[in-house]
This record gives sequence, structure tokens and C-alpha cells, in this order.
Amino acid sequence: MLKVTAVPAFQDNYLWLIHNDTHAAVVDPGDAAPVLAALAARSLSLAAILLTHHHPDHVGGVPALLRHAAVPVFGPRNERIDNVGCLLEEGDAVAVPELGLRLTVLDVPGHTSGHIAYLAPEQDWLFCGDTLFAGGCGRLFEGTPSQMLASLRKLAALPEQTRVYCAHEYTLSNLRFAREVEPGNPALAQRLIDEQAKRDQGLPTVPSTIGLERATNPFLRHTGEEILRQLRANGYIDNDEPVAAFAALRQWKNTYR
Ligand SMILES: [Zn+2]
Repeated sequence: MLKVTAVPAFQDNYLWLIHNDTHAAVVDPGDAAPVLAALAARSLSLAAILLTHHHPDHVGGVPALLRHAAVPVFGPRNERIDNVGCLLEEGDAVAVPELGLRLTVLDVPGHTSGHIAYLAPEQDWLFCGDTLFAGGCGRLFEGTPSQMLASLRKLAALPEQTRVYCAHEYTLSNLRFAREVEPGNPALAQRLIDEQAKRDQGLPTVPSTIGLERATNPFLRHTGEEILRQLRANGYIDNDEPVAAFAALRQWKNTYR
């Protein structure tokens, strides 16, 4: 039986451990120490490292983990990341035999130009790095709004029960912005209550699901009537063109406190 366990790191990162009783793969190990501690606590052997993009808080722990165990490192073909031996792009398959785990790769550029996501179709698990967040999306550091929008639409089209293992605990601040731009969404109001209750108990709000994101995430709902009205009322757009609306929403979020 495969499980996914969150390994918190830095301020608000989640490094994801996919494991059975003996082995583990780690997604985006920005720091080695908490991963090594999590492996030791469960007596797990590291079997693979999976990387979504090149940012240091996602790859910084790779050298130290490789000194601990010489395992395969998977990562995006279109980014230069040290130690990546298996270069991946859209449609590629990844196998981690120690776990009986099979993943497929999605190209999701926008946050970075070569960002990839890993989908486990048998389990309906999605590891999407800094592309789709619970209630939000990543900043556009390297890609264009139309690239990011296409990436988010690809993820939003996955089955609604798909669990979204994103890489940061940004949910409450994302949802406060979502409420600002879509105050009339009852699913969003309920989600704010539910996620606040989890944080009050010190629990992660991640994973989310694709269904919940479709219902509450403004970056998947930017062509909805209420969000377009808010964008117009605040002077961000003067027409309803979808890419312009998405870009305006992302811009608004960048300045929102
Ligand atoms: Zn990043």
C-alpha cells in the first residue's frame, strides 16, 4: 500500500514522500535534513528523487541525498538542474520499481519555463510543484500568462478526485484573495472555514483535489461572471478576453496584501 507523507521544510514548503513500508521516493527535496529524518523515523530506504523545476527550495537537498544513497534523479528536460540523470517531458513515463509506482509527466510551463508535473494515474495523485496551488497558482517568473493558463487548464481537466500535492502551504492567503475577487461563491466561503480549522489544529491544507480547485480557485475560474466584473470594477480589464483576464488576476494577486 502506497502512502504520501508531507515533510515540512523552510517556512512553508512541503516535500512529498511517496512510500510503502520499506522504500520511498521524494518529490522536490529542497532540503536534505528533514527528508533524511523522515526516512530514518520510518526505516525507509530512498529509491528515487523527482524534481518539478529548478528553484533552490525544490532541488537544494539533492547533493546531500545522493551522498546518502545513489538513486535515480528525475527532472525536467528543459531546465538545467545538476545531478538529473533522467530528463523528462510531456508524455514520458516514470517507474519506481521498489514502490510499484508509475507516473506520467505533464509539461506545465509558466512558473518556470520547463516546469513539469507528475501524475500517478492509478492513485489519482498529482505532484505539481509551484504551478497549481490550493486556492491559487504560482507566480510567473519565466513563462507567459498564456503558457501558465494552458498549464492550469491541463491540470483542471484531470479527474475531479485527483489529489493535488502542491509544494507550499499558501492556502489561507490564497483563499483570502479568492474571496476578494469572488465574494459571492458559497463553496469558497465554506472552504475558508474548513481550511482555517485545519490550520488552527496545525494540520496541512494540502492535498486539495481538482474538484475543490475547480469550485474555489480563482485562477481556474477567471472567466466566471463575478470575477470578470471585479476585474472590470477595479480597472484591471476593459474586455473579457480570457488570457488578458488571467494575466490581470495574476497581477492583482501579486500586489494583494
Ligand atoms: Zn518555484
